[in-house]
Amino acid sequence: MSYDPQNIFAKILRGEIPCDKIYENGHALAFRDIHPKAPVHVLIIPKGAYESSSDFSEKASAEEIAGFMRAVHAVAEQTGVLDAGYRLIANTGANGHQEVPHFHVHLLGGRPLGAMLQAGR
Ligand code: AMP
Repeated sequence: MSYDPQNIFAKILRGEIPCDKIYENGHALAFRDIHPKAPVHVLIIPKGAYESSSDFSEKASAEEIAGFMRAVHAVAEQTGVLDAGYRLIANTGANGHQEVPHFHVHLLGGRPLGAMLQAGR
């Protein structure tokens, strides 16, 4: 699978569609999810064209990875969830139920989130 430059997050990065931006650095952009699942639900995306967590982990430079992870921390700090805690999710591929083929991490918090998954094999 090759990166689709028409995916919705690529359009957000190009400024073709708006987003509720809350943080940006040289390597990452963070904005609120349009269908929030918690009081705090932010998506952090790299500015580079990476379709998934695996693609990013394998191919991104050390600077891109560091910039991305610093953005995750900045979002946690800015949204006030550092002390109470939060959850990071990177849905990947079909079984991971990834809908948008541009790597993104969900940062969720603002309430107790319960168990990570329902039990099941
Ligand atoms: P995933 O299943 O991890 O690929 O989730 C994609 C997420 O992107 C979902 O939680 C959607 O609500 C969110 N989403 C889709 N389009 C937009 C958009 N234009 N702005 C903000 N969030 C979006």
